Amino acid sequence: MKDVIIIGAGIAGLTAAHELHKEKLDFQLLEPSYRVGGVIETLELNGNLIEAGPHTFSSFSADVLGIVKDLGIQDELIEANPTAKKRYVCLNGNLMPVPANPQEFLKSELLTKDAKWTLLEEFVLPPVSREESVEDFISRRFGREVLKGLVQPYLNGVFAGDVKKLSANAVFPKLKELESKHKSVGLGLLLSSIENILKARKPLTLHSFKKGMEFLPNSIYEEVKNKVTLSVKDIEITRAKDFFIVTFKANNKTINYTTNSILFAIPANRMNEYGYLFPDEYLSDFKSIEYAPVATVTQLVDKSNIKTSLDGFGFLCTYEVQKKLLGTIWTSSIFPDRGKDDKAILTSFIGGAHFKKISELKEEEISNIVSRELADVLNISNPELLKTIYIRVYEHAIPQYNMGHLDTVKRIEKLMDTKYGVFFAGNYLRGISINDTVKSSKSAVGRIKDFLKTVIKEEALVK
Ligand SMILES: Cc1cc2nc3c(=O)[nH]c(=O)nc-3n(C[C@H](O)[C@H](O)[C@H](O)COP(=O)(O)OP(=O)(O)OC[C@H]3O[C@@H](n4cnc5c(N)ncnc54)[C@H](O)[C@@H]3O)c2cc1C
Repeated sequence: MKDVIIIGAGIAGLTAAHELHKEKLDFQLLEPSYRVGGVIETLELNGNLIEAGPHTFSSFSADVLGIVKDLGIQDELIEANPTAKKRYVCLNGNLMPVPANPQEFLKSELLTKDAKWTLLEEFVLPPVSREESVEDFISRRFGREVLKGLVQPYLNGVFAGDVKKLSANAVFPKLKELESKHKSVGLGLLLSSIENILKARKPLTLHSFKKGMEFLPNSIYEEVKNKVTLSVKDIEITRAKDFFIVTFKANNKTINYTTNSILFAIPANRMNEYGYLFPDEYLSDFKSIEYAPVATVTQLVDKSNIKTSLDGFGFLCTYEVQKKLLGTIWTSSIFPDRGKDDKAILTSFIGGAHFKKISELKEEEISNIVSRELADVLNISNPELLKTIYIRVYEHAIPQYNMGHLDTVKRIEKLMDTKYGVFFAGNYLRGISINDTVKSSKSAVGRIKDFLKTVIKEEALVK
């Protein structure tokens, strides 16, 4: 009898495998694809190292760096070029630097003088405890210019979402917490930055690996290889009294495992395939989580053809009905070793909640839209100077934390705590980033360990 069967070998499933391996628990990880990593995928095309999905992870939480340390792969880590701290917002077609400190903020043209003055009112506004959309929360506390010029572009980069539908409580839980604790988000932020200075907390850094982001999932895979089955088909799970029977096909054989628990580390929108295992109300929770499609488009351009200096991480766009681009990462500025000769590598993101049609377009159409809009923003005289080398369309790229999301998550967490033996991890719970996904997986493993203790106790009683 296995302790756990993990379904899905993205970073959520692999993290669980790594943690269970450390705990010396018996598990098997099943993955339908021929590779591990899920959306984390690095490719080498004609000597250019490019990322189909995530480009970096931040030092914000110690979880991913902890796994890096466990695996002994610290020497393979790389840090983003320090200039990548500079970020731009594309507002009305112009690139404007995102202010990094109060002096820059006062000078910034991203907000009008009136909008900056309005910010002072935030310190005396009464808090609101009910759930609010991002639009309502941000415009109530900081005004609509902050929503349009700063928050919406930021969320284009994280959720590719719609501020009218996204829940502020799920997307900005810390800001809502500061509001209720200090009666003002601004005051709360001020106090926490003073605390950061006093505690000499290190500033955030962005990381990748010499061989690209996929090096992380591949390294976990190397550690637990003999407990991973790739290219599996027709997974079927049946509940037998107080354990599960998992049947699947791999290498033209039908394989069966019995297991005490199952960890689903797959996207919420795929849970319906296993919905017969739970009461209907839980299935509708998984179904209620919408996904936004996103395409990533990697292009090369001669640096000499760009009239704008690529001195930063890239830019994110404000929402304009007629514009489709969400933002562009200046890949070869963040990691200068990745650009070849005099060419810049640019990775653009397009699609999201406002442009779901992206997944129906042909690659050529996607490439043309990106070239046209990007040439405009970066002052490239002719869109044809941008050569598209890779396009990846994710039909269900990013789960949307829309209104009601936290209640949905609480119910899913309750299902894990019913001692039924099913557990869930992934980016659709409490954070989209790789750090948050890893955290969700570690938390599921904690619950699994507690559950297994009760199973072992019951087994001992039976004997
Ligand atoms: C385009 C893009 C860019 C991003 N950029 C960043 C970034 O720069 N930094 C950052 O921190 N985060 C970024 N993210 C977010 C982060 O990469 C993801 O949230 C995280 O990697 C998701 O991991 P996961 O394991 O939950 O899911 P996935 O990576 O989707 O893995 C799920 C796995 O489950 C398998 N699976 C699916 N369905 C089934 C099924 N029915 N049965 C069995 N197995 C199944 C899949 O094959 C896959 O291997 C980005 C995401 C995207 C899409």
